[in-house]
Amino acid sequence: MLTNDAGGSPAFGRPALQADCERCFGLCCVALPFAATADFAVDKEAGKPCANLRLDFRCGIHDSLRQQGFRGCTVYDCFGAGQKVSQTTYGGRDWRRNPASAQQMFDVFPIMRQLHELLWYLHESLTLEPARPIRKELHAMLDETERLTGLEPDALLKLNIAAHRAEVNKLLLQASELTREQAVRALKGSGGRRKACSRGADLIGAKLKGADLRGANLRGAYLIAADLRGADLRAADLIGADLRDTDLSGADLTGAIFLTQSQVNSAKGDAATRLPQSLTRPAHWTSRPG
Ligand code: SF4
Repeated sequence: MLTNDAGGSPAFGRPALQADCERCFGLCCVALPFAATADFAVDKEAGKPCANLRLDFRCGIHDSLRQQGFRGCTVYDCFGAGQKVSQTTYGGRDWRRNPASAQQMFDVFPIMRQLHELLWYLHESLTLEPARPIRKELHAMLDETERLTGLEPDALLKLNIAAHRAEVNKLLLQASELTREQAVRALKGSGGRRKACSRGADLIGAKLKGADLRGANLRGAYLIAADLRGADLRAADLIGADLRDTDLSGADLTGAIFLTQSQVNSAKGDAATRLPQSLTRPAHWTSRPG
């Protein structure tokens, strides 16, 4: 699959967390299942290679995924877990030539993907100036998460990934609160009327055109097909928010917290949408629909 239509984000100082499909054994195209929907043209079971995966682990329809009904492939991002499992955990031994370890490799991949996603967020937390008071704890958690990515396959499979996620999330939440509090303080006296939002909010299809959402808590919010054209989302926390078909045309997301390339790829936008520096404008935002 792809990190994005534009060929991958610059990862902004996090190169190991950027998918490098050239060094991956097509793990997301084999390990993961998908169902025939608007995002995928066909059903595929977990552990079975996609029919479009070539023998060299490249995608046979790479240049026309959206046109051929595989939009989901242009949205998915492994955060560099694919090449980590392929080249480090399994030392470059691919599943075609080593079928005995294939299933184990496919089981390890989603665990590594979660660890790499957490690394992405932790790295970002360390760039947030208001989170300086918890920087030591963030560094320690980053080191621990890095250590976990180097475990052997058996140990990775035994890892309590949910418990580790919960520990990381406590710190991410603190970093978010510190950052958003500062943003809200800066707003006082600016005369802005901010829209109130809450964690996990159901905003499916919401009409939020031009809304002032600076510093908003949109963690896990359902923003599917919401109209956020021209909205101000600076310093808003968007971790885990569902942005499928959310219209971000003209919206300002500079400084938005914990936004990922995958979320951006799943949304709509245009040349006027302002993104955090770590993310790339998806090609489909500016090209004609296929
Ligand atoms: S269509 Fe291409 S990118 Fe998508 S799963 Fe199949 S091989 Fe991978």
